[in-house]
Amino acid sequence: MKTLSPIKRRKILESVAEIRGMVVDMRLVFIGPPGVGKGTYAKMISTKYGIPHLSTGDIFREEISKGSELGLKVKYYVEKGLLVPDDIVIGIVRKVLKSPECERGFILDGFPRTIKQAEELDKITTLDAALLFEAPLQTIIERVSGRLVCPNCGAIYNISWKPPKKPGVCDVCGSVLVKRKDDDPEVIRARYETYRQTFSPVIEYYRSKGMLIEVYSAREAAEVVTEVEKILRERKIIK
Ligand SMILES: [Zn+2]
Repeated sequence: MKTLSPIKRRKILESVAEIRGMVVDMRLVFIGPPGVGKGTYAKMISTKYGIPHLSTGDIFREEISKGSELGLKVKYYVEKGLLVPDDIVIGIVRKVLKSPECERGFILDGFPRTIKQAEELDKITTLDAALLFEAPLQTIIERVSGRLVCPNCGAIYNISWKPPKKPGVCDVCGSVLVKRKDDDPEVIRARYETYRQTFSPVIEYYRSKGMLIEVYSAREAAEVVTEVEKILRERKIIK
């Protein structure tokens, strides 16, 4: 990677600080089926506006690695493959949202999963919006089932729109590419169904409060993010 000159670096840092200083104060929840690209959109917006992208999975892993009291509790459930109980999840989310890192907002990803969690979240903070990313199941299946990953370096390809130069071989390191078990159409369908059943009440909760923003996501990630920014501006969440 090319090293930036000190002046260029300062300019970039200043422009980031400017964005941080004047524009951003947004507290968002992202909802969407697995494979819809939610994590990608969250990362793009998080980087652009300098607010943290908080996925409960990441937070759990961090707490576990810190070996905190909460972390030990979480570890017990995660290792057994059990759902972490509401009160523990809420405790962790409360702790993170009260930290200085989240002063100017956050994107919550994977939380809340239940009405109880949504209600508790409302006691902790005031959300600006809940964004629901949607795409037809067939589109998700096409996206995800065409995925090939490199077991050696982690590079990700897609048969349809990002094929490796040589079929089945990693451009970066030359290893033989594989399909993940989770990317099988039947597995995707099952995960979609679980998602739908789990999140329907939460989606209705935000819809009834007039906070739900639906974003059609069967298109390029950059287009989805532009649409999100447009809506957030219209709603005066981005000023
Ligand atoms: Zn590779």
